Amino acid sequence: MVYIGHENKLSIENKILLMREDARFDVADANLTYGPEESEEVSIPDPSLFQDIHSKQAPPKVPKVFLSNKCIFNCAYCSCRASRESDSRYCNTPRELAEISVQQAKDNGHGVFITSAIYQNANYTEELIIETLRIMREELFYKGYIHAKVMPGTDPLLIEKAGRYANRLSVNIEVAQNSGYERIAKQKNKQIILTPMHQICNLVQYAKQFKGKSNPYLAMSQTTQLMAGSTEETDRTIMTLSEALYKKFHLSRVYYTNFQYVHEARGYELPITQTPSWRARRLYQADRLQQLYGFTPDEITPEQAPNLTEHLDPKIGWALRNIHLFPIEVNRADYEELLRIPGIGLTYAKKILRARQFGTITHRSLRAIGVSLKRSNYFITCDGKYEGGKYIEHPELLEQIFQE
Ligand code: SF4
Repeated sequence: MVYIGHENKLSIENKILLMREDARFDVADANLTYGPEESEEVSIPDPSLFQDIHSKQAPPKVPKVFLSNKCIFNCAYCSCRASRESDSRYCNTPRELAEISVQQAKDNGHGVFITSAIYQNANYTEELIIETLRIMREELFYKGYIHAKVMPGTDPLLIEKAGRYANRLSVNIEVAQNSGYERIAKQKNKQIILTPMHQICNLVQYAKQFKGKSNPYLAMSQTTQLMAGSTEETDRTIMTLSEALYKKFHLSRVYYTNFQYVHEARGYELPITQTPSWRARRLYQADRLQQLYGFTPDEITPEQAPNLTEHLDPKIGWALRNIHLFPIEVNRADYEELLRIPGIGLTYAKKILRARQFGTITHRSLRAIGVSLKRSNYFITCDGKYEGGKYIEHPELLEQIFQE
């Protein structure tokens, strides 16, 4: 591979500061994980610079490093876009980036996420990323976790090479409706994103099936990012697409972010609309309900209520729309039914099942095993006893109680 030349007037320290800034616009910028009941928010100094490495569960987070912040594309939401005037452009050499990455990974203790703007063209950028990965593995002997970005439209041979060095690969789908590309990312289209996604999926399936010493592939997982508010799309559209992506491409994780229009982008006639910050948080909650709790997009965002709301947790919203299914008797409910009770999550559903082996569950014994009855009390009976007062007959009053 021939290097065409790099823009490297900035010091390493300055580039790291810029990477921190650019990270706000890339995958997983809203990467805090939110549970339906218990917020798993993690307090870290600069959340946008980190990404979690486990599929649907919480941290650890890994730092995000950029090969380049100079893009030939012009996405309206991104600080790296071509039309943004900036005297702070950089493109690292693979060796520089490999050294920065290993250092960042060592400091963080969990791994690193290597990403980039599209520098010159997709294949050239991916080649530079692959060379970075190769140096990290073969010359710097880095054995830890690497998540590497695949540029939209990258050649299949290069994706296959990246899969030999990185543990996780991702390409960002960005918009939930095709019209979104025209509105905020004119050079992108479904095909240049779904084609690599499909290939990564095959690579990951192969790697999982033939795990072992002779298997040349490390890439065992794939993620993507979906942006809310790029068009007038509903949350139902987003959650339905997300479910389809999980199923079709066996994704480990869909990240959600809010469309933010911070600096004027030439070539777009956008109204200055910012997606409210609560929306991504609700999407994460809805995602978790679908991926871990067995809810469907139709249940979380039904046709008659296609949008998640700012003031109501999506699980509570589902329960209030389906109040006829409550109260649930905790001594008889199976695991899946327990998970549908507001206030009872994955951990406490299992604890209740274990506790049932030793006797009948009462409100008192629920408290003893740590279940907070603040939410669940309105939706359960324990050995036939109901302690939720008259509220179950008045879901509109319950809605007021649960307003956040
Ligand atoms: S392709 Fe779009 S989102 Fe990605 S770095 Fe370039 S301008 Fe930013």
